[in-house]
Amino acid sequence: YHAKLERDRISIFSPEFDLNTVERLRLLADLRIAIDRGDLDVVFQPQVELAGSRVVAVEALARWNHCTRGPVGPDVFIPLAEDSGLIFRLTTVVLERALAQLAEWRAAGHDIRMAVNLSARHLSDLGVPQQVALALRRHGIPASSLVLEVTETAILSDPVRADLVIRALRAHGVTIAIDDYGTGNASLSYLRRLEVDELKIDRVFVSNIRADGQDMIIVRSTIALALELGLRVVAEGVEDEPTVESLRSFGGVVAQGYHLGRPGSAEAVERMIVEANGAPTEGALSRA
Ligand code: C2E
Ligand code: MG
Ligand code: MG
Ligand code: MG
Repeated sequence: YHAKLERDRISIFSPEFDLNTVERLRLLADLRIAIDRGDLDVVFQPQVELAGSRVVAVEALARWNHCTRGPVGPDVFIPLAEDSGLIFRLTTVVLERALAQLAEWRAAGHDIRMAVNLSARHLSDLGVPQQVALALRRHGIPASSLVLEVTETAILSDPVRADLVIRALRAHGVTIAIDDYGTGNASLSYLRRLEVDELKIDRVFVSNIRADGQDMIIVRSTIALALELGLRVVAEGVEDEPTVESLRSFGGVVAQGYHLGRPGSAEAVERMIVEANGAPTEGALSRA
């Protein structure tokens, strides 16, 4: 009996195990309360253009510090939110915080993009593009400064509707990135037809390029192909300097990873931006 208790306790925090129903419901109820109370945090991780060592974008990532359990990972609470539909409110909170922060940075003269993650559910909701457009207008942010990250899996769960939603978002001027590229089943030509703007090559390939010749070939040729197709390329999961050097030699790549900057508070990331890009000289960027 004790062993079972222990096992259930472990299962709460590790995504490899299925949460048991009671724990799921409890955690879900707590998540709903946390969202309502504004207890959810958003951290930011820089994306660095390797050629010029400039921070060109940051990705907003949700964090939940549970009042008694401590930090619960996004790998646990995001699937929970997706399954329950709570993901819409969660994303609204993240988008709102991310755009407010970007507006502040733009007012200080920092010209960077903000990336926010969407889920499969958003790609089958035709109301999402309008909601995003309104949020951008409210914060005075040009649509081209917002990157929405979606996975191949999310697109393929309802491809017809995803196509419509992506086209509507792009019609507003928002850019679309394919997150975790290479782990799903979408071909590059299919994604190209969807007119996505950016590929984020998954860290399972990137973090291994120094050790695994095949991963090196996959990453190098994917980058070359994507750049030639006119896509932006972000390499995820860059954890050491040799990887930076390899990626830099491929040219035109943006990199994201612990070696370049861990996800952190707005203040911490702002220090990184100022250090990398220099203090802005021209003052506030114009509002959209
Ligand atoms: P993702 O969108 O692919 O985000 C990148 C994840 O990789 C983040 O994990 C980040 O902390 C981690 N990471 C960054 N650099 C490195 C590195 O060098 N090495 C390693 N090992 N990991 C690195 P995080 O924050 O735990 O998020 C996990 C996933 O949860 C995200 O993957 C995303 O799919 C989801 N997620 C997080 N926040 C949100 C959100 O606001 N909305 C939605 N829909 N999903 C979110
Ligand atoms: Mg992402
Ligand atoms: Mg990713
Ligand atoms: Mg991921």
